[in-house]
Amino acid sequence: MKNAEKSTDIYSREVVSMRDVEKTHAPGNSSSHSVSNPRLFDTPEAEAIKEEICAVGRKLWMRQFVDGNGGNISYRIGPNEILCTPTMISKYDLTPEALCMVDLEGRQIAGTMERTSEIYLHLEIYKSVPEAKSVLHCHPPHATAYAITGKVPPNMIIPEFEIFVGKVAIAPYKTPGTAEFAETVIPFVKQHNTVLLANHGTVCWADTVTHAEWYAEVLETYCWTLMLASQLGAPISYISEPQGSDLMAIKKRHGLPDARFDDSEMSESRAANLKTPRAVALTPTPAEGGTGECADAVGEVDIELIVRSVTEAVLKAIRAK
Ligand SMILES: [Zn+2]
Repeated sequence: MKNAEKSTDIYSREVVSMRDVEKTHAPGNSSSHSVSNPRLFDTPEAEAIKEEICAVGRKLWMRQFVDGNGGNISYRIGPNEILCTPTMISKYDLTPEALCMVDLEGRQIAGTMERTSEIYLHLEIYKSVPEAKSVLHCHPPHATAYAITGKVPPNMIIPEFEIFVGKVAIAPYKTPGTAEFAETVIPFVKQHNTVLLANHGTVCWADTVTHAEWYAEVLETYCWTLMLASQLGAPISYISEPQGSDLMAIKKRHGLPDARFDDSEMSESRAANLKTPRAVALTPTPAEGGTGECADAVGEVDIELIVRSVTEAVLKAIRAK
C-alpha cells in the first residue's frame, strides 16, 4: 500500500487549480460580429452529423447516462454554426428533424424545435478550445456520484482511462442554464477533455460526437470500477511511473490533452490531434432487435486503431512488470 501511495505521488498534483490553467478567453475569440450561414443546416455533412448525434443520443439513453430530457449534444459544423439537440426531448427519441442550429452566441438560426437551454455550456467550450468539434453533456450515475461529493477519481489505475481522459477537473456548482454555469468550465477545458460538474454531471469535448461519448463512457466505467474495488477490502495497485510514462506517450500520439503535459508537450499533442482519424457512431441495436445500421464503415477502422494502441500499451505494461 505504501508503495502504491508513493508511486502515485508524481501524478497526484492537486487536481486542478486555477493557477495551473491559463485564462482561456482569448481576445478576438468572440464571434459576436460573425455572420452565420443557416444553409449549413441542410448540407450532406450536416445530415450525416445529425444521424451521428441521434445514434449517440440513443447510446446515452441505453447506457443510462441521461434521464428524462437530460443531457445535450452539439457539433461545430462551421466557424459560427453549431448543430445541437433541442430542449425537452429524451435523447433516445432524437430524430434528425428535431435537431437545431445556433450561432456562437446561442441564437437559433435553423431547426423547428427550440435549442437546448444548456447550449451556453457548449459554446464556452467552443470559444475556449479551437480543436473542440463536439461537446456532450450527460449525467452518468457513477461519475455524477463523484461530482456530488466533490471528489475526482485518482489516476494511474487503468490504462484506458489515462489515455482517453486522464486527469479530471471538477467545475463548481452554478444553476444550470445560466451564463454563470456555462463559464464554470472555462478554466479547465483547454487541458481537460472531460470535466465533472459539481452536483450535476459531466461534460466532454472531442474531435467527433462519437469520441465525446467515448470519454463519458470511459469516465463512467472507471468511476464504477473504482467504487466496486473499494468494496473488496483490498488495496488498489497503481501503475508505476515508467509504465505511466508509456501511457502518456501514447496519449500524446493521439493528440489528446492532459493537465500533466507541460506546454511543449501540449503543443505536440495538439499538432497530433489534427491527424486523429475521424470516427462516427454505430447505431446501437435495441435489445429486441433492430437494423443496427453502421453510420460509416470508416468508424470501424478507427475504433480498431485505437483499441490496438490501448492493447499494445497494456501488453507493454504487463511485460514491464
Ligand atoms: Zn444536465
